[in-house]
Amino acid sequence: MSTVLNDVLAANAAYADAFGAKADLALPPARRFAILTCMDARLDPAKYAGLSEGDAHVIRNAGGRASDDAIRSLVISYKLLGTAEWFVIHHTDCGMEFFTDEVISGLLANSLETAALGPDGFYDVGTGPGSSEGATIDWLCITDQTGSVVDDVRRIREHPLVPAGIPIHGFLYDVRSGRLIEVPEANRVGKAA
Ligand SMILES: [Zn+2]
Repeated sequence: MSTVLNDVLAANAAYADAFGAKADLALPPARRFAILTCMDARLDPAKYAGLSEGDAHVIRNAGGRASDDAIRSLVISYKLLGTAEWFVIHHTDCGMEFFTDEVISGLLANSLETAALGPDGFYDVGTGPGSSEGATIDWLCITDQTGSVVDDVRRIREHPLVPAGIPIHGFLYDVRSGRLIEVPEANRVGKAA
């Protein structure tokens, strides 16, 4: 068994041993809000936003982007599980700023091995074969840190399945300080009607 697998199972055994009253948590989030944020390993929404099990929905993907699938989750989050306030939280130094659709498609066309990151960006070190399938995906890369928050809050706000009464807050998480920085334009766009 791999070290990672062993470690995860050991950690889980300890967690389950102390599970206690969490067995009785209700399905709908108790604090009735949802966070859409990046999968970056440095971000822990439970810690940076003070969440305990059962408190809130956390939807994560590369960049914390308002993809079709993120919107699917948000709609379920309010329509079936009662969340009434949403946060879109991107962050500084996001990996999604370091490549474009063309770059990742090119890397994948070369090989399916992990690329290397040099001073001039990612380059492929694999032996191949790769696949051209990457060219069919919109990778939702980020060119403008605050602009991407505004764009995603706007996309959610304007979605026909999102009610006007849900406030959508836009923030950047600073990976150097752990602080949430407001994106005023996103909050203006995301204001509840
Ligand atoms: Zn990120």
